[in-house]
Amino acid sequence: MTKVIAPGGRLGVLGSGQLGRMFALAARRLGYRVIVYSPDQDSPTGQVADTEFTARYDDLERVKAFARTVDVVTFEFENVPFPTAAACAQFVPVRPRGEVLHITQQRLREKTYLREQGFPVTPFARVTSLAELEAAIDALGLPAVLKSADFGYDGKGQRKLLARADAPAAWAVLGVKEAILEGFVDFALEVSVVAARGLDGSFAAFDVFENAHANHILDVTVCPARIDPKLARQALELARGILERLDVVGVLCVEMFVTKSGALLVNELAPRPHNSGHLTFDASLTNQFEQQVRAVCGLPLGSPQSLRPAAMMNLLGDVWANGEPHWAAALELPNVKLHLYGKSDPRPGRKMGHLTALADTVDEAERAVREARARLVRCG
Ligand code: AMP
Repeated sequence: MTKVIAPGGRLGVLGSGQLGRMFALAARRLGYRVIVYSPDQDSPTGQVADTEFTARYDDLERVKAFARTVDVVTFEFENVPFPTAAACAQFVPVRPRGEVLHITQQRLREKTYLREQGFPVTPFARVTSLAELEAAIDALGLPAVLKSADFGYDGKGQRKLLARADAPAAWAVLGVKEAILEGFVDFALEVSVVAARGLDGSFAAFDVFENAHANHILDVTVCPARIDPKLARQALELARGILERLDVVGVLCVEMFVTKSGALLVNELAPRPHNSGHLTFDASLTNQFEQQVRAVCGLPLGSPQSLRPAAMMNLLGDVWANGEPHWAAALELPNVKLHLYGKSDPRPGRKMGHLTALADTVDEAERAVREARARLVRCG
């Protein structure tokens, strides 16, 4: 089970979005074959994979047929059902292991695990009824955020509560059996650490990313984060502790709040490369997807060293609101790189691609990437 999967090997990926696509691109550059499994056709990953299995995740016979054709299985999103990962594990290693998937695919399990293991998390309580919600509000105080226990990514399935009187409506609208109430963190900043851990326990983390969200969706990331170097070291050590405790083989992202008093609180884990790490494609010696390939294949991890200050902005479907974006106008900026995911339907809020800008300083990179995105729309 611990042998190296050398280039030429067959890498299976569950899920077929943009994270799988960028994983497949990195894998193919290293000479691997990529086999993707998902229910979708003409998917971002399927377009660049060697082979596609198009079937439902709960079709365990097809899942097993897929697993028999590959040397290792990884995943590109954490909502892959646990039994799917378990079916694959009967045949080949699943990396990160299925238990990591199981813990991180449900908010309540994830937060409970982190708290039990002594990692700092937002105060929270389990809620399964209106009475429990009211009791949780009394315990945690207001404002608070009510979230479905199941993810729910990019802010879907969550409501901010400002008054106790909001509770009945919030509970009814959320419409789930199990939820989590979290104290609202009046944070100074959001940051994330994307790190990799090898089969031999080796560890490599990218510099800390600083993230800004719009409508609960990541909007801008800059790297390195504009935080005190001591706090950056603490964030990296926190991530290292989590990857080691979970015995991760692969890549994992830790999203954190920096409180106004300078403390770190973990908001969420993602057991895979993360949107905030997309700038590593252009700005780091080894990008997060190559790192995932190396880790799941048992190869040595690459250097995560950052080559230049960088900034990334997401391109949501909204950028298409006035028609086809003006690509040439953005790309006139010579330090800007364009990444598109091969999606044909630019719905509002849908992640269609991203832009990365490199510069001498983070502030300059951020200005450039904002200018590039504005040009896409302004001239459209
Ligand atoms: P999530 O889906 O839990 O990652 O939340 C998406 C975004 O909502 C986060 O990145 C924060 O900007 C915001 N958010 C979520 N939970 C909290 C919280 N407990 N306090 C303050 N802001 C939050």
